[in-house]
Amino acid sequence: MSKPLQSVKGMNDILPEETGLWLYLEDTVRHVFESYGYRQIRLPILEQTALFKRSIGEATDIVEKEMYSFEDRGGDSLTLRPEGTAGTVRAGMQHGLFHNQIQRLWYIGPMFRRERPQKGRYRQFYQIGVETFSMPGPDIDAELILMTARLWAALGLKGLALQLNTLGTAETRARYRDDLIEYFSASQDQLDEDSQRRLHKNPLRILDSKNPAMAELIAAAPTFLEYLDDESADHFQSLQEILDQAGIQYEVNPRLVRGLDYYSKTVFEWITDQLGAQGTVCAGGRFDGLIKQFGGKETSAIGFAMGMDRLIELLKDSDKQVNTAPDAYFISMGEAATRQALLLAEQLRDQLPEIRLLSNCGGGSYKSQFKRADKSGARYAIILGDDEMANGSVSVKDLKEGEQQTVDQDKLAQLIKI
Ligand code: ATP
Ligand code: MG
Repeated sequence: MSKPLQSVKGMNDILPEETGLWLYLEDTVRHVFESYGYRQIRLPILEQTALFKRSIGEATDIVEKEMYSFEDRGGDSLTLRPEGTAGTVRAGMQHGLFHNQIQRLWYIGPMFRRERPQKGRYRQFYQIGVETFSMPGPDIDAELILMTARLWAALGLKGLALQLNTLGTAETRARYRDDLIEYFSASQDQLDEDSQRRLHKNPLRILDSKNPAMAELIAAAPTFLEYLDDESADHFQSLQEILDQAGIQYEVNPRLVRGLDYYSKTVFEWITDQLGAQGTVCAGGRFDGLIKQFGGKETSAIGFAMGMDRLIELLKDSDKQVNTAPDAYFISMGEAATRQALLLAEQLRDQLPEIRLLSNCGGGSYKSQFKRADKSGARYAIILGDDEMANGSVSVKDLKEGEQQTVDQDKLAQLIKI
């Protein structure tokens, strides 16, 4: 016999026991984002491979070894999106969303990277992201950070720390790049294979290496803050002042470079020490150059993406309880009663639009139906048996208190408190 089919490695099923928490996260995010006026954008999961190569950068982990790319039957090279920024920029340009307009957008959905699966790192994972356009100043940088801080509070998550850095402009980075090449070249024998390859292509990437054997070398490398241009320095300073005034704590981490090439000026990460090595739950930054790089008009932009899988882990650890139990379970005996129960259930949903009501479908003895009612976690069992059918009544048992009452069928709603 052949082995039963399994899901693809690193691509997980999210089962009903867990989806309550996911829906809670999604609802809370949506509520917070809408309170700041952000609007949702929905994008294809497949894009042209060239889109990601050109935006994320050729010498990055994602493009070098993590993308799911394939040739479709028409000969086009397509890629399952590894992140959401490139698609958002592509869509915005395609539909003229950036012409003299400010945009505050958010998205949600699966992303795909062929990484080594481990806790908090999967091959299909879920991000919620925000991208804003045409706001060049530090005010919007601060808004994004304040909005994420508000989200953590709404979710009841504690212990997330904010790290900030600035990457300046492309010009200042070029000077820094040259000096980094010189610095790392002097210790070439200490560089791992990836870093050797990146030394001349993209030395800033070396700073993002997670290889502990290189930690010391990286710690002693020149930091970008010494190279910073005045405008970027002012921008960074203003951002810090707004955060100080708002009482947001942060740490400036001059090593923070992010794993993608398109960032400039502000970059930030929210980090926890509760998830082991996979501690970054939200990461973002400015990408003022990206739209021009795609042939559009210079447009300032800043955004971030949150890893939902990691946030769910944090919510689980924080013992967040999401109640998905029904309010009531409708028990019925015999075919006529079952039909009548379905109609009464519809009536009850009309009268109590918020109710969560399970009808017993599939028959069963009283005993087994009561068992299902208990297992469902419902507060009430509604019962339509022979006696009730005979005199047009219905019974309601409070499964917590144990008491049972019988009323006319048109009074049923009065016995259910939700
Ligand atoms: P990391 O340093 O953890 O690899 P990254 O720099 O590759 O993250 P981004 O591309 O900025 O991450 O994505 C934003 C967020 O998405 C991350 O901070 C993380 O929470 C989440 N994320 C990224 N890759 C994965 C993955 N393979 N599995 C689960 N979550 C992920
Ligand atoms: Mg990564």
